[in-house]
Amino acid sequence: ATPLPKPLKTRVISVSNQKGGVGKTTSTVNLAAALAAKSLKVLVIDLDPQGNASTALGIEHGEGTLGIYEVLIEGAEIKDAVQVSPENPNLSCLPATIDLAGAEIEIVTAFERENWHALLKTAIDTYLAQGNHPDYIFIDCPPSLGLLTVNAFVAATEVLLPIQCEYYALEGLSQLLRNIERIQQALNPQLVLSTILLTMYDSRTKLASAVVDDVRQHFPAQTLNSVIPRNVRVSEAPSFGRTVISHDKSSVGSLSYLEAAIEIAQKGAQNGR
Ligand code: ADP
Ligand code: MG
Repeated sequence: ATPLPKPLKTRVISVSNQKGGVGKTTSTVNLAAALAAKSLKVLVIDLDPQGNASTALGIEHGEGTLGIYEVLIEGAEIKDAVQVSPENPNLSCLPATIDLAGAEIEIVTAFERENWHALLKTAIDTYLAQGNHPDYIFIDCPPSLGLLTVNAFVAATEVLLPIQCEYYALEGLSQLLRNIERIQQALNPQLVLSTILLTMYDSRTKLASAVVDDVRQHFPAQTLNSVIPRNVRVSEAPSFGRTVISHDKSSVGSLSYLEAAIEIAQKGAQNGR
């Protein structure tokens, strides 16, 4: 197999959708693991107080573990909080603990307004300036458009939007797009919605293919050709603290995430990233 193109500089990708349960975390950890399996260096930042990405990557994140909370609120450095994945040395994770649940209120009360938005960006810039050069940083966002997600949008160069192939898939999307636009105008001009990934596709339902057609028609440039099917290997992998890439490499879930990761790498190179 030919190696994947290395990005010119670190691609910081915010995986966002204000809906819960659409495949943000699943896509974050499996795309990250797929790129790492292709010899690229990947950091996952868990920005959801639930800590699901940390769990899925088999990363320690009990209360008191140094993680994203300490980085955002207490000025800890990312390099000191990062843990290497047990399944691949190319893959690491900045974990989230339950402490993060109060972070939005703490940010509002502890920092000057002009500093609210850039806490994560500042921490990532420091990490990169210290000589760490991951090819990809994926930020797993919580299911809201609050201050944590704003921090992800300010730190990111790209947004990856997972869309679940089901009813109401497009509902709330215009709100998300409007928010991305506002961030572009006010805080981060380089932010783009680069990628849409259709998840939990069930080929037996007409509805799923209708959603796929609809999304492709609205976002032809952004929507990946690869679609992630519903697959039990994908949903059971986190209970082993593993990604589906290592849990069952030849499953359709694993193969489709590998395909999607290859597309992301190749489209990025085509677009000069
Ligand atoms: P989010 O992070 O957007 O809340 P998750 O990634 O946690 O969503 O996914 C929600 C649920 O759907 C989880 O239980 C997850 O295991 C399951 N899931 C996600 N993608 C798939 C898939 N392709 N096949 C089967 N189950 C999936
Ligand atoms: Mg999640």
